[in-house]
Amino acid sequence: MMEQFAQVALPVPLAKTFDYRITEHVPVVGARVKVPFGRQHKVGIVTAITTTPSVAAHQVKAITEVLDDVPLWTPAVYRLLQWASRFYHHPLGDAMGAVMPTLLRKGRPAALKQQKWWQLTEAGQNQPVTGLTRAPKQARVLTLLTHGPTPHADLVEQDITPAVINALVDKGWIAPYTPPLEGKSWARHFAISEDKPSLNHEQAMAVATINASDGFACVLLEGITGSGKTEVYLNVLEPVLARGEQALILVPEIGLTPQTIRRFERRFNVPVTVMHSGLNDTERLSAWLAARDNQAAIVIGTRSALFTPMANLGIIIIDEEHDPSYKQQDSFRYHARDLAVMRGHEEKIPVVLGSATPSLETLHNAQTGKYQYLRLTQRPGNAVTARQGVLDIKGHHLEAGLSAPLIAEMRQHLQQGNQVMLFLNRRGYAPAMMCHECGWLASCQRCDAYYTLHQQHQELRCHHCGHQKRVPPQCGDCGSTQLISVGVGTEQLEAQLGELFPDYNTVRIDRDNTRRKGSLESYLAGIEKGEYQILLGTQMLAKGHHFPNVTLVALVDVDGALFSNDFRAPERLAQLMVQVAGRAGRASKPGTVILQTHHPEHSLIQALIHKGYQAFADSALAERRQAWLPPYTFLSLFRAEGHEDNSVQQFLQQVRQTLAASPIQHDEVHIMGPMPAPMARRAGRYRWQLLIQAPSRKVMQQWLTVALPVIQQLPLSRKVRWSLDVEPQDL
Ligand code: ADP
Ligand code: ZN
Ligand code: ZN
Repeated sequence: MMEQFAQVALPVPLAKTFDYRITEHVPVVGARVKVPFGRQHKVGIVTAITTTPSVAAHQVKAITEVLDDVPLWTPAVYRLLQWASRFYHHPLGDAMGAVMPTLLRKGRPAALKQQKWWQLTEAGQNQPVTGLTRAPKQARVLTLLTHGPTPHADLVEQDITPAVINALVDKGWIAPYTPPLEGKSWARHFAISEDKPSLNHEQAMAVATINASDGFACVLLEGITGSGKTEVYLNVLEPVLARGEQALILVPEIGLTPQTIRRFERRFNVPVTVMHSGLNDTERLSAWLAARDNQAAIVIGTRSALFTPMANLGIIIIDEEHDPSYKQQDSFRYHARDLAVMRGHEEKIPVVLGSATPSLETLHNAQTGKYQYLRLTQRPGNAVTARQGVLDIKGHHLEAGLSAPLIAEMRQHLQQGNQVMLFLNRRGYAPAMMCHECGWLASCQRCDAYYTLHQQHQELRCHHCGHQKRVPPQCGDCGSTQLISVGVGTEQLEAQLGELFPDYNTVRIDRDNTRRKGSLESYLAGIEKGEYQILLGTQMLAKGHHFPNVTLVALVDVDGALFSNDFRAPERLAQLMVQVAGRAGRASKPGTVILQTHHPEHSLIQALIHKGYQAFADSALAERRQAWLPPYTFLSLFRAEGHEDNSVQQFLQQVRQTLAASPIQHDEVHIMGPMPAPMARRAGRYRWQLLIQAPSRKVMQQWLTVALPVIQQLPLSRKVRWSLDVEPQDL
């Protein structure tokens, strides 16, 4: 028989597979194998079996161990990964390694760990317990086991040590027991809670439309916060779960609240598995296995949960589909929302994209009929929408960023016993520290950026490279000791609020003080209980939480987003504004939203305040069309960085030439750059970028596919750090 070799995709940043000799049985395609790689071993995925290795057969090393009898992923997820690897031009093995639970990448068996059980043997059953007075613990075990097989953990809980158990095993009185698999038992317990609202007309229409789809369909469900989107999801899930099929629900990174999870559990009485970054490796693996083996009916997770294999998937729901956290920003740079649509296609099931403020890409797809477009325009229970207003702060005296009219308004709401919420997207005490005598600004040595002052820790911290140091006693230039802070961050605002409103408690929610595990949850619980009256935070606070007693929301400073380099900044600001407006107030307590700006006349603000998100989106889309920006064109971004400014720029120049020499000519493809990145130096590295703009995904892919192998051969490509971001979210 001809000798056989396995092609293996390994978690390394090289766009190729590696051949290994098959010694024992032939692994199936999609199974994990452990193989020697350099001086170590790595776990990879078999992508093909061949009789002709790519290098001389005697040089090919042997597989160390075949780890799986069956493919690791379902066929649909396996195809999805291959598609994503091609589309994002990321090496398949590296992509696979990135999305598999860490323990699987380390070679742990891909099977739910069977709990160990013990039972009495026949000899044990006939053993009179009274004969064991000198070994009371052994006697206890025998007594316990007379009630039937018992999990090992239960014995441990009764202070039974392994020595006691081993003694009984040696005597032949007890033996291991294999419990029958519970299997798909959730389908037997499935029930729909009677305690559920009857749908309004729009909700009923949405549910009917989604459930009528046979096979793949993509649906945009647009509805303001509180309009009952989650209620629609729940109703859409009814027939899916009743058929015994599973549901996958993606939520933004910070949007995964215990309330949401409980809502799904209660409604259907089925197991809900949660996957988020807070899980440890063991928890993550068991969640993954529960999903794959159909022990979980519903999987709720953040971005990477998209790749969870599911035995019998019936629907995918992406909540808050516009949220930027769906885009992976390093290494394997995929967009989970876009890939979810692809997965729905592969699985032949519906995909629901829900949002109060759909991304312009998704809106465009809905408006052009590529997606079905469903809207919820009413809030159940006649809740009124928030009143919105702009506060022109030109020339106003500001106290830690707050104008006098805003402070007055806050006081009024607080005196009525309501809560007030303030947004400021800058953590720390102040975004810069300056010398009052000569104007010197403390800036990071390694970045083109100023240090942020963190007063509480008496530290200067660079928010770009993480560098930190003690606050210097003197100016770095003239030696003056008159150092002052410039601008306002959340830490300073918090201190000021304490002085302005000594009778009320303020809670601050940002990345700095929610680092400790459980701290965010405890703050949120405190808000719910009314322990805090003033809520202050970065946009972390805007996501996923309902605050029914908040009647005033203020965006303290929106000017930065109006004049940003990033063409998506206005869209993000509009989304934030609508999101927070939706979180304020309820039927009996209508909310007010206030924006502080120096530019009240700005067209974005005008459109949003007077006409709403839809009008804003229409005008923003018109601008994008004019400017040849997504969704009307498709972008890819080469980023490069290195210690030598010149070679970084030169590398991208060569990339440009390679692209331009492409045999696929297309007048509508534009290459822009190389140009310095928005932060031209970070952590001591010089950074440049090159932007490609193509009229279609197809043309973009043709260009990249032809050029990349050449680019990878450029000598400079090994000297500078570079990456390709297909359809980048941040420019
Ligand atoms: P969203 O997900 O759009 O924010 P939810 O589904 O959470 O909205 O609904 C907001 C609130 O309104 C929830 O308390 C929910 O139970 C309630 N609700 C939703 N639909 C209805 C309905 N048809 N009748 C009564 N209450 C409803
Ligand atoms: Zn820095
Ligand atoms: Zn100075």
